[in-house]
Amino acid sequence: MSGLAAVHGRADERVAYRLPFPPNVQGEIVIPKAASGDERLWIEQAPSVWIRPLLFNVSAGYWMVLLRVRKAGVLTRHRHPGPVHGFVLKGRWHYLEHDWVAEEGSYVYEPPGETHTLIVPDDVPEMITYFQVNGAMIFVDPDGRQIGYDDVHTKIELARRHFAAIGLGADYVKQFIR
Ligand code: FE
Repeated sequence: MSGLAAVHGRADERVAYRLPFPPNVQGEIVIPKAASGDERLWIEQAPSVWIRPLLFNVSAGYWMVLLRVRKAGVLTRHRHPGPVHGFVLKGRWHYLEHDWVAEEGSYVYEPPGETHTLIVPDDVPEMITYFQVNGAMIFVDPDGRQIGYDDVHTKIELARRHFAAIGLGADYVKQFIR
């Protein structure tokens, strides 16, 4: 009998794991209605561009967010030194630098070295995309000269200021940090 068949046939198949977790395991995060819930948790980072924090991972240096862009919003031109994974939950968008379109249900991989400018077309009222951004976003002019950057720490600071300003308190951000 193979190992898998042996496991499936066992009487304790539905018995929960009962040993303690290793001492350094961090707490899980569960966010109900992440894409549709409390409007206060959306942070406007530029006109018509919001992020909703899901996870700020300070030891691996990446962040998971929902990005929401409404009509006429532009995500400033930026270069990625690390990989990015995206999954479009709602709407449609494209990059000025590419001829493909990311639409609802699309998975997008952005390789290290990409520089691009995210645009939502005029006929799309709102897009929401789930992004994992690794390392940093380096904001650049059209000739690649750096004009700013974001990393997991600048995103945490943005969120701290937002949560403080709306009355939830700066420490509200701690629940998203691992
Ligand atoms: Fe990007």
